[in-house]
This record gives sequence, structure tokens and C-alpha cells, in this order.
Amino acid sequence: MDHRNAKARVKETIVARDDDLLETLERLVSAKSVTGNERCGQQVMLEEFERLGLEVDTWEPEADALEDHPGYFRTSSYEDCGYEGRENAVATVPGTGDGPTLALSGHIDVVPADPESAWESDPWTLRREGDRVYGRGASDMKGGLAAMLLAVTVLAEEGIDLAGDLYVQSTIEEEDGGVGGLLSVLERGYVPDAAIIPEPFGLPNVGIASAGVMFFDVTVPGKKAHAAWGHQGVSAFDKACHVRSALNALNDERQTSIDFPPAYGADPSLEGHVTNINVGVVEGGDWPASVPAEVTMHGRVGWPPGESRAEVREAIEEAIEAAASEDEWLAQHPPTVEWTGWNAAPHEVPRDAEIVGIVKRNAESITGEDGTFVGGNAALDERFYQRYYDVPVVTAGPYGPNLHGVDEYTTVTSLLETAQTLAVSAIDYCGLAE
Ligand SMILES: [Zn+2]
Repeated sequence: MDHRNAKARVKETIVARDDDLLETLERLVSAKSVTGNERCGQQVMLEEFERLGLEVDTWEPEADALEDHPGYFRTSSYEDCGYEGRENAVATVPGTGDGPTLALSGHIDVVPADPESAWESDPWTLRREGDRVYGRGASDMKGGLAAMLLAVTVLAEEGIDLAGDLYVQSTIEEEDGGVGGLLSVLERGYVPDAAIIPEPFGLPNVGIASAGVMFFDVTVPGKKAHAAWGHQGVSAFDKACHVRSALNALNDERQTSIDFPPAYGADPSLEGHVTNINVGVVEGGDWPASVPAEVTMHGRVGWPPGESRAEVREAIEEAIEAAASEDEWLAQHPPTVEWTGWNAAPHEVPRDAEIVGIVKRNAESITGEDGTFVGGNAALDERFYQRYYDVPVVTAGPYGPNLHGVDEYTTVTSLLETAQTLAVSAIDYCGLAE
């Protein structure tokens, strides 16, 4: 079969297989594989790999072995649940020639669906309404996993032998940083020549970049006193508000001086908001009638490609130091800053990478629309490929406007288009066996 024929047949077959795709997606959505509890979802993936007759490797990540990697951080799901019972799974479709290796990669974990009562129907039961399918993970990203499986199924049924190997991967913990997931997959040796991750960026848009994310804790000291003698104490909360204002000013300054066009390629409202500094949790004090002696603010800073980790940390620490120096109490009792939790670097894939061109061309021809280059505004698993292994990676997947939200949904049309794009891009990239 020639190349063009193979692509045409695969596209035609996939479009008629919506029932199969939705049947798989239904089983995936029914598995409540919230981060930390991925096994029930992986069980479905393993059944699918078995049905396809593929050789599968599964393993639990080992934190000790990953800890020296520059991309490592201790995730909260690791702290809460460890990695026991949380296997990654990689199936290999062996190539029959010496073409390049491509990975199709997706994460099996989803965020919780709380409050479930706010949903129109049970979030763990896939519901179809016209072209839309609702359920937790429908778009992020069990829909992408189901599209991957359909692409591989149809390639096999049509007797299409790729020249290069194809890895079909289901990973854990993406929603919590992906350290035990995709980083563990790469460290295990599954390093392809290129990769596609069908996260719900909405075809024909093609994701080529993501911003980094770091978490920090600022602890601000005060002086405890009974509220009736409050004037003799120093409120750590009031001092924390002073520090928070300085972070707000730094945020404004960064928003105007740092640009990251891929982040707003598909969402113009993000222009000027690619580095958001957020204080998400404030802890302190112990009694309404006591002046609080200490307040800790837990925050997050966004970090686009172009800045180094050290530069971002320095900017935050300097802003806090400057705020402290202009306050009599804080100058003597300076706040402390700690960098804990999320530590995800940004990434950007060269637009002239072969896989970028292949996926964009195919997505545009399949959807009949022009796509644009987009980027993630928060950390993505893609960074592990590009940043630490120099593997070009493209994000291309179904429509998913309210991922993580209530009544998460995607469309059957975009799921089928995703499966088509994955299958024909595998043909283009891996080549056909002689
Ligand atoms: Zn996702």
C-alpha cells in the first residue's frame, strides 16, 4: 500500500468508529482514577493493550531513583499516597523497519469532580448529548487516551506496518506535576525521537510550549499579644499584607515586561497574564482575641520560557526583601522565603521540528481549518521531553473548553479528528515498512 492510500484508508475507517471510541471512553471515565488512585484507570488501559496484543511494560516509579534529576520535585500525591500501586504503562507497537520512534502519550489521572452535586449528571458516567460527551476526564484527557487506542487499533486492522516503533503510553500523576509519570517513563528508557500528547488544546491548534510553575512559602513574623493590649503586639497578618502588596507590584511589573505569545494564541484573555503570582493559601494566628505571631502565605509564580529558575526566585526574594527594608518591624524581623512543592520548568519546541509540521498539516487538513501555535499557561508534561531529553513534542488533541470544571465535556467530532490526526501523523513520521 502506498503512503497516500494508507493515510486515506485510516482516516476513512476511523470516522465510522465513534461507537468503539465512546465505549472505551465510557470505561475510562467510570474508573475514578483521581491522582494518587490511578490503578483503576490503568486496568482499563491494560485490557485495551491486551486486546491489541501488544507487549506492555508496567512499573511503579521509584522516588529515590528520580530524586537527583533536575526536573524532580516531591509531589503532594507522593507525600499523601506514595507510589505503591500507581503503575505507569507503556505498550510498544514494534516497527518493521528502521524508521524513527514516535510516542503517543497521555495521562490516566484526573482531578476530583467535587462538588459532584453541581454536575448536570454523574461525573463518573459518560453522558452523550448530541455531539457532546460529558464526564470527568472526557477532555482531560481520557478522550485523548481513547483516541490513541482507536488510532492504534485501526492501523493494525488495516494491516499498516510502520517502519519505526510506536510507544503508546499511559502515565500517572500529570495533574500533580508528572514526576512519577512521564519523567519516570523517560528515565526507564522510553526516549522516542518525537512525541505527541493529545491534551485538549483543540485541533487544529498545535501546542508547542508551556510556562513553568514554582510554589513558594513566605513566613512573616509578628509579636503575640492579647487583643486588649494589641497595641503592644505586632500583627503578622498586617505585615503579611504589606508583603503581599509588594508581590502584587512585582506581578504588575512582570506582566508588562514579560511576554509569551503562545500562551494567548488560542485565548486572547491571557495576554499580559502569563506570569501570574498568586497567594493561594494563608495560614496564621490561633485565636480571635490574640494578635497573630506568625503568618505563612503559600504562593505560586508562573514562569514562561526565557527566564531561568534562579532569576525568577531572585525577583521574588528581592521584592520581599525590599518590602521588609521599608518597614521598621520587618527590617528587624525579616520574612523568610522557601521554595517548596511544584517546580516545573517551561519548555518551547522549535517550530521547524519535523513532528510540528507533520501534526499541524494533518490537523489542518482533517479539520479543514487553519490552526495556530499555542502554549500551556501552566506546567505541562511536555517539558520533560523537550527540556531534559531534547525530544520535540507536540500537544494536539480534542476540544476541551472547561477542563477541570463542572460538566467537563468534549465533542465526538473532535475525538475522531484527534484519532485521525494521531494515526496519519504516525504514518508520516515513522514511515511505512518497505
Ligand atoms: Zn491533562
